[in-house]
Amino acid sequence: MFAPGQLVVDARGRVAAVRPFRGARCDFQAIVPGFVNAHAHLQLEPLARPVRSFVPWLRAVIADRSRRSLDDLERAAERALESDSLCRSIGEVDSTGASRSALARARTRGRLYRELLGFDLDSRAARALVRGTDTPATRRCPRGLSPHAPYSVSSPLLRAAVRTRRPLMVHVAESPEEVEFQATGRGPFRELLEDLDRLPRDFRPRRESSVEWLARHRALSPRTALVHCQHISDGDLALIVDARAPVVVCPGTIRYFRRRPPPLEEWIRAGVRFALGTDSRASHDGDATIVGELVTARRLWPNVEPERLLTGITAAAGRAIARPDLGVLRVGGPADFVGVAWSGPTTAETLFDGLASGSVECRAFPRDPR
Ligand SMILES: [Zn+2]
Repeated sequence: MFAPGQLVVDARGRVAAVRPFRGARCDFQAIVPGFVNAHAHLQLEPLARPVRSFVPWLRAVIADRSRRSLDDLERAAERALESDSLCRSIGEVDSTGASRSALARARTRGRLYRELLGFDLDSRAARALVRGTDTPATRRCPRGLSPHAPYSVSSPLLRAAVRTRRPLMVHVAESPEEVEFQATGRGPFRELLEDLDRLPRDFRPRRESSVEWLARHRALSPRTALVHCQHISDGDLALIVDARAPVVVCPGTIRYFRRRPPPLEEWIRAGVRFALGTDSRASHDGDATIVGELVTARRLWPNVEPERLLTGITAAAGRAIARPDLGVLRVGGPADFVGVAWSGPTTAETLFDGLASGSVECRAFPRDPR
């Protein structure tokens, strides 16, 4: 893994060659592919005071968002991008259309998923919503759609999203309340939908898990990122593995809600493809940065190999957002990378421990992305 080398970059910012280095001194001890944040909501800012129970938290986020203007949300997205300067690629869930210009200005790469909400939408209304929100993305962030979650999306809306064949991102099996609502149609999510006047008159409980619901609508695929998956059965796990659907876990959110971490080692043994994401600053204590997620992931899953966790913010994260060209360094590809320097032996362990403890010096390249 570590050999003195030279990365040659052409005038278009692409990797032209990698060759052995014979000079006296290398600039960095390691070059790591550019970091990719597989799941974010850049527009969401920290709540005025933390709410650590999921459905009340969701109510607080909805209320907070309703008070903000589009300009406000755009500024929030800009601030979020600035606060994580080492991360130049992202899978962003945009709920209002305000993230697009912030991403374009920061020249961020990745994918822009437009959020879809509507538990009460029939086929016609669902098709109209998807047509209306399937709007231009940026040159560096092609479009995706994010049917938000099983408790906020009707079956016709999910079907309409699947029909576009765009990459999808869905929050799945995040809380026990979601499991209860899918199984029985009762509980805090029913109350929330009633309060929002979104529960259809002819509503019938689905009586299937969130993963089964996605599978029945042909939504499970390598191009659908499943976010969280906190509460899945062995049967759900088999469906996810068979479909080769990537799972995005968000360590900061697990900590914020004091959740039990999902069994990542078991998932890896079963063949799950996982990536890491920051989620939003509304479900975070402190800054939401992708290296911070790596640090938290190391604490939550100390037995997972460090290199494996590192791919969760590089190559595996690129694949999770249907951008296999990101989070990798190859000749002909973009020269997006992070140069890392530290004192101490040059080994994968010291690199990882340094990243995790913040004791290494990292610089993201290119300095001025094109
Ligand atoms: Zn999320």
